[in-house]
Amino acid sequence: MTASSTSTTTGEHQHATSTTPAARAVGLTKVYGRGEARVVALDGVSLDIARGEFTAIMGPSGSGKSTLMHCAAGLDSVTEGEVHIGDVSLGTLRDKALTTLRRDRVGFVFQSFNLVPTLTALENILLPLAIAGRRPDPQWFATVIETVGLGDRLSHRPSELSGGQQQRVACARALMSRPEIVFADEPTGNLDSASGAEVLGFLRRSVDEFGQTVVMVTHDPGAAGHTDRVVFLADGRIVDEMRDPTADRVLERMKGFEKTHARGTRAHEGA
Ligand code: ADP
Ligand code: MG
Repeated sequence: MTASSTSTTTGEHQHATSTTPAARAVGLTKVYGRGEARVVALDGVSLDIARGEFTAIMGPSGSGKSTLMHCAAGLDSVTEGEVHIGDVSLGTLRDKALTTLRRDRVGFVFQSFNLVPTLTALENILLPLAIAGRRPDPQWFATVIETVGLGDRLSHRPSELSGGQQQRVACARALMSRPEIVFADEPTGNLDSASGAEVLGFLRRSVDEFGQTVVMVTHDPGAAGHTDRVVFLADGRIVDEMRDPTADRVLERMKGFEKTHARGTRAHEGA
């Protein structure tokens, strides 16, 4: 496809040198609350997200996955450590610059779609650019719309679309500004497996065909099997990672963690 290869070239020129990670966390610690309510959600996480890769973040509920995404995307402040998007350290930015960076260089996809119910699919996709007072690049727009595969549904409102279609609208919206990185927090969590596969297929194509960088939180080994790399979190720390995962290998690894965890809990109870 000519359109997408042209776009990819443009993207590489736009962004910092291709050896700079798309995002980087260094010694990232996030503490919520204080006193008895104090929770260490992230405990010294260091992680590089390479450009043009599809990365999955996995771990038990409460292990810090959403916190990691929110801190990395500049949606939440950090307690200690640093977060970079490309060559920009988020800690150095004032509120206005951070808002601009989030708008122009970061895309976010939520489990619950977060579409505006009164707008059509197309209006939702274009909303962030409209707010920024920008028009989409016509070629990029055509490429994303073609890839998202909504056909004649673009004039429909969210309530007239299936869950999978709504989430693909949300993915197209996240991509429209050609962000440096897209963060997706359990994007298939509310979808049946067929709709989930549509969304995963779209994210995968955005990586393969546009060189997009995508980081996705998931509980599902099948979803993780679509990615290039899985990072495993437990208790706010990175405990393992896997390259070129398959659903079976991810499942095996997760079983291993459960055993370790069960042993740890018993030992603790015994103590
Ligand atoms: P995950 O996404 O892996 O389920 P989270 O990042 O949502 O985990 O949460 C990690 C820990 O931080 C949990 O113990 C959670 O209760 C706590 N936490 C998350 N957000 C907040 C918040 N806004 N205030 C207080 N504690 C929070
Ligand atoms: Mg979460």
